[in-house]
Amino acid sequence: MGYLLRNCDFVITWINNELRILRNVDIAIDNGLIVNVGNIARGTYEEIDCSGHAVIPGLVNAHTHTPMSLLRGFYDDAELITWLNKMWSVERELTRDVISLGSELSIIEMVMSGTTAFIDMYHYPDVTASVALRYGLRAALGPTFIDTLRSPALVENELRNFLSMYGDSSLIRPIINVHSIYAVSRDTLLRIKDLSNELNLPIQIHASETRDEVYESKRRFGMFPVEYLNSLGLILSKTQLVHLGWVTNWELSIIAKANARVTHAPTSNMKLATAGHFPMRELIDMGVTVTLGTDGPASNNSLDMFREMKMAVLLQRHSYWDVGIKAIHAFKAATINGYKLLGLNGGCINNGCVADLVLLDLSSPRLQPARDDNILSNIVYSADGSDVDMVIVDGKVIYDRSRDYPVLRERARNIGERLNDFIRKFL
Ligand SMILES: [Zn+2]
Repeated sequence: MGYLLRNCDFVITWINNELRILRNVDIAIDNGLIVNVGNIARGTYEEIDCSGHAVIPGLVNAHTHTPMSLLRGFYDDAELITWLNKMWSVERELTRDVISLGSELSIIEMVMSGTTAFIDMYHYPDVTASVALRYGLRAALGPTFIDTLRSPALVENELRNFLSMYGDSSLIRPIINVHSIYAVSRDTLLRIKDLSNELNLPIQIHASETRDEVYESKRRFGMFPVEYLNSLGLILSKTQLVHLGWVTNWELSIIAKANARVTHAPTSNMKLATAGHFPMRELIDMGVTVTLGTDGPASNNSLDMFREMKMAVLLQRHSYWDVGIKAIHAFKAATINGYKLLGLNGGCINNGCVADLVLLDLSSPRLQPARDDNILSNIVYSADGSDVDMVIVDGKVIYDRSRDYPVLRERARNIGERLNDFIRKFL
């Protein structure tokens, strides 16, 4: 039996790539899909009263390191390379149990704040995947190539195992994670290209995050990072490039020509003082699919995609002295573009879209006064994750505030205490 979301005050959707705001409509969901939007007669559906709510498509966190909530607030005040070395010193000691707790804490935060899918890069992805499934979230993830920490043969083996475990899952999408060009050798990158072709898997990689990375790439390879990846045949339509704070114009052309996907992580870039400018306007104008991610909870330090949408717009305006990037661009990056990256017809509330939805409580003072002309602005610039009342993924209610809030809060506190037992020995 499906659901009928009755009397939704606002429904915010994309139709033919244009934002539409519908008023006082019902949404019917069946078999994981949206099957009707409008004024719908009662049927066999279970009804959910949506009066007093705005319904938006689920938010996609297109780049994070879920288990890193275990390192939240652990070493906040360092630039990227110093910070990474500190993180790696702990990451060498991680166990599956600790990964499971860190993943669960992050997944609780995502579920409660309206994220319906996330793209993850970390160790023991099978553990994170099993927690995501337990909570009903979508996730794209897989083992991470990082030669500085683990042998590539070992990672390849893990990848094949991960694929056999989750290759057929409807919620879990295997991907190949590659840390960066500075943590992975040329030979490994070439092997990754072959693996991606053989197994038909997308690739996610951090690229052009810092000036150091760019200088080092020029010094060692005589090329900028995206040029270097392209010379190895790794800039493809299935490649997701994360950060891009220091790309040149000719690298943007390489990305656009290949139809590669890009992800902006504004808060993490600001917190780690990587500076640079993610060229959002230029990439959008070139027709590139721009998505948004929080990055890990050790470098953000939150997984709230509402905050990330706001940060994305503000950072562009601050960096470029220009208001060309608007709320609609951030909302698009976090919704329909995120689903495009996942290869799903989602991020929309129309017939045939996957039923991944978020109900926002319009009695939140942050969302008032609410009108057709300002509801999107209120959502991007004012709302936060605590305004979420219900989350539906794949047609199932995975979070109902009135039912789940106290249980999840208690679980989060309990996990925090257990993570402290682990992290104390590194302080
Ligand atoms: Zn990252």
